[in-house]
Amino acid sequence: MAWTPIPKPRAVREATNLVDYARTRAGFSWTAERAALSGLPGGGLNIAYEAVDRHVSEHGDRVALRWVDRHDVAHDYTYAELAERANRFAGLLRRLGVAPGERVFTLLGRVPELYVAVLGALKAGCVVSPLFSAFGPEPVRQRLRIGEASVLVTAPQLYRRKVAAIRDSVPALRHVLVTGDEDGPGTLALAPALAAEAPSFDIEPTAPEDPALLHFTSGTTGTPKGAVHVHEAVLAHYVTAKYALDLHPGDVFWCTADPGWVTGMSYGVIAPLTHGLTLVSDEGDFDARRWYSVLAAQRVSVWYTAPTALRMLMRQGADLARQYDLSALRFVASVGEPLNPEAVVWGQDALGLPVHDNWWQTETGAIMISNFAGEEVRPGSMGLPLPGIDACVVLRGEDGRALVRHGEVTPLTDPGAEGELALRRGWPSMFRGYWRDPARYAKSFAGEWYLTGDIARRDADGYYWFVGRADDVIKSAGHLVGPFEVESALMAHPAVAEAGVIGKPDPVAGELVKAFVTLHEGYPPGEALELELLAFGRKALGAVAPKEIEFRQSLPHTRSGKVLRRLLKARELGLPEGDVSTLEGAS
Ligand code: AMP
Repeated sequence: MAWTPIPKPRAVREATNLVDYARTRAGFSWTAERAALSGLPGGGLNIAYEAVDRHVSEHGDRVALRWVDRHDVAHDYTYAELAERANRFAGLLRRLGVAPGERVFTLLGRVPELYVAVLGALKAGCVVSPLFSAFGPEPVRQRLRIGEASVLVTAPQLYRRKVAAIRDSVPALRHVLVTGDEDGPGTLALAPALAAEAPSFDIEPTAPEDPALLHFTSGTTGTPKGAVHVHEAVLAHYVTAKYALDLHPGDVFWCTADPGWVTGMSYGVIAPLTHGLTLVSDEGDFDARRWYSVLAAQRVSVWYTAPTALRMLMRQGADLARQYDLSALRFVASVGEPLNPEAVVWGQDALGLPVHDNWWQTETGAIMISNFAGEEVRPGSMGLPLPGIDACVVLRGEDGRALVRHGEVTPLTDPGAEGELALRRGWPSMFRGYWRDPARYAKSFAGEWYLTGDIARRDADGYYWFVGRADDVIKSAGHLVGPFEVESALMAHPAVAEAGVIGKPDPVAGELVKAFVTLHEGYPPGEALELELLAFGRKALGAVAPKEIEFRQSLPHTRSGKVLRRLLKARELGLPEGDVSTLEGAS
């Protein structure tokens, strides 16, 4: 079914930051946009300074963070307060002997300490690496090890449940700072430690190309990859929030993404603060009534959320939405997984606004393709490339990935042609490496182009449409799950001989993680073992564990012996197996 584009009235168009897409694109220069940033007073560039400190002299008493706790009580932190708390955190790091460039990890839900730790660590010149607090101990251990964490900031109960038992296997980890007042075994309590620090701090004079953020993501094979972003990324955070999220002074902005993933960091912390506005943070978990209450009570004007959440709201019906006063809401955007056209149109019906899909990924650091506030929305499309971003689709080879010949790819110019989505390298928030893995980084590029691993098509008007992934990674409830990580965790169980993990389509979560398993001799398949393996997976992996397990006598393999996940998937979906069985797994 073709969906009718949703036009924008002229008055709406003219009130946006991107009144004329074509003209802004043609005249765009990152250098010119850089004038919107301040730079450090003594020279250099620091994300935390751009986000917080530069606003303090003029707007120190403006609310930077409105934190809604689990009991629905809102707590305000002004720009001046946030700057001071971050200073104390930075001072603490310095006093503990944590040097610039060292990695400070967070394993926290949406609590004020998260914002303080992230901004403070950036001020100290450290590299911030956020972890998803619903991870189990195994993904936490892997990432702390790979990123050579020096410091972890977490909550006492998360420490006990997820870190204490694995701490010995992370030898680089020198300090664990926990929220609250009480030191525990091997941990230092943040509240008294911060109170003892000075309220001011000389920000480390970081250079634009100094590493600032380390975001873990997954590929088809191997361990998680740490995408490195530099302080210069803040320019892209600022500019993309201006154009794709249409942030204006005075907006109240709510990004629902978990701060353990890249969206929760780039747009849940940094971008809105660079615009000097109020960001809302809700400690509570998803609940339709709760979310509508937050939108209404906090007078949220710009809302950035995700398809799974929207589909869960849709299930409760548009009438529920209409019971709340959402009159402050001006713009709604979504990211992270395909946004079905029904959800775009449902927004119009239930919220009075269409949902604007946009596209980006961990490696790109910021939004690359977007439906804009001033342009018509094409339901089902990811939108148009941001000003400053050149995208194309390129010809794919037999393995499903871009065909690279003599270091070059072949852009496809015919409207509707499907290919791998590629972006011309050089935008400020482009990742600068995979942590300690230059070979993997080099493989992500061909000539001028960064290869995204997504398959897309572009229509005659330049709108991009998501087709699928060119590799085996899974998107479940917006979380990118590496099948290899799940397979490895299952294979640690004595019964499991081999595992193949796929994403099984699900109407709400997009995909569910499903594992096919073969067993060692002496372990009979059956419900008891199935439940045991599900529990085993959950204990190790947490929220990214498989939700379904199916026993098999054998698994299909590529010629080189890798499990052929795509064949498992084709069979699961009842699709023709075609050439899949002869393909090498793309990695
Ligand atoms: P992550 O690196 O975890 O942010 O995941 C990025 C991946 O999520 C992309 O490479 C896409 O496969 C998927 N994704 C993100 N945004 C969209 C979107 N708007 N439509 C379809 N897929 C998306």
